[in-house]
Amino acid sequence: MAHPQLISVDEAQRLIFSLAVPRLAHLCPLDSALGHVLGESVVSREDSPPFDKSLVDGCAVRACDVSRIGGELRVLESIAAGEVPSQRVVAGTTSRIMTGAPIPEGADAVVMCEYVESVPTGSGRETVRIGSAEIRAGQHILRRGESIQRGAVALPAGRQLRPVDIGVLAALGVELVSAVARPSVAIVATGSELMPESGQLGPAQIRNSNGPMLRALLGQLAGRVNDLGIGPDSEEVLESLIQQGLESDVLLLSGGVSAGIHDLVPGVLDKLGVKRVFHKVNLKPGKPLWFGSTDSNGVNRLVFGLPGNPASALVCFELFVRPALMRMGGVADASPRFGRARLAADLLVRTDRLSFLPARYFETEGGAAVERVSWKGSADLFGLSQASCLIRVPCGEYRLAAGQCVDVLWL
Ligand code: AMP
Ligand code: MG
Repeated sequence: MAHPQLISVDEAQRLIFSLAVPRLAHLCPLDSALGHVLGESVVSREDSPPFDKSLVDGCAVRACDVSRIGGELRVLESIAAGEVPSQRVVAGTTSRIMTGAPIPEGADAVVMCEYVESVPTGSGRETVRIGSAEIRAGQHILRRGESIQRGAVALPAGRQLRPVDIGVLAALGVELVSAVARPSVAIVATGSELMPESGQLGPAQIRNSNGPMLRALLGQLAGRVNDLGIGPDSEEVLESLIQQGLESDVLLLSGGVSAGIHDLVPGVLDKLGVKRVFHKVNLKPGKPLWFGSTDSNGVNRLVFGLPGNPASALVCFELFVRPALMRMGGVADASPRFGRARLAADLLVRTDRLSFLPARYFETEGGAAVERVSWKGSADLFGLSQASCLIRVPCGEYRLAAGQCVDVLWL
């Protein structure tokens, strides 16, 4: 039942990956590094923490002094975070210490303030009684370099930077990181019926939803985004817009790649020397997808002709564009990530293409479950917006029983 003339989704992904090569690394300031992939490992130039520090508010003590319950100690000083201790803790003494402050010489443990009781002495000197049963040498102290030592790898090459990693880099005083540059992306929404997002619709006009949706989907995937707006179905205008779009690493077109007489995009791309790699995929929604590449000025640029129907454009983005952009940005395993979930109800499948069905995901006592949402097909973006995932169903005629596990792609 499969279409012999359509290439499979797997084959399409393979062809795209073979052309989506990682870009070169560049120096990136820390405040714009989030989501980038490290081109080189980051080696710590400092010990962290840079000094032995207290992890709690309390008293810095010699563990041997207070191993018996009720040990009374004379207080030498109070050390706040950011202050340098001035006195050595010797037998029978202690210093009050705050979280983050350096451990004074002589002390080898900190007792939490909850276990410290002030003893009235009558004199001006403070004495405390330690009420903790067991004091371990080293307790509540983080030693210099215990978190990371100077010269050790703090973050490995290939790591995609998350907020926690930005924190690590900031902690180590790193201002610039070597990061794989993210591809620049241009967007052109084609179709003579398209209107910009606002304004009064004329007869037979619709608004351009793909342009803004693609910009939103790009999120952190792209370096620069150049939205060239709407191109009517006119060879001259499309030619000029596509030429501008080819200045970016990746050009995303929507519409104009199906079989209609006004679907001019493949012809214009061909005329401009963009080599077709494939056209049409065994996929529903998303069959009309066009993909090609061009080598201009020694730079390889990728062109995706996404279907005009918004749901098709979105599915093609998730299956093909997102992985390609991730890979160009240096992500090693950029394949789409599928989860598993149980069907909440029987699912009757009757499809001649690999299909993705909009579905709602929810938690049950028995684990993750999915159920289809009402959806009118590839032109129905509103139905799709009720979904939190897509159920992947291979082609054929069959019934999937409730409770059976299926592959889902998160939206
Ligand atoms: P096409 O791929 O150009 O044949 O378009 C398929 C369907 O998608 C048509 O109904 C178009 O009106 C619609 N369409 C094309 N481009 C867009 C867009 N940018 N936003 C919303 N719908 C679109
Ligand atoms: Mg069109």
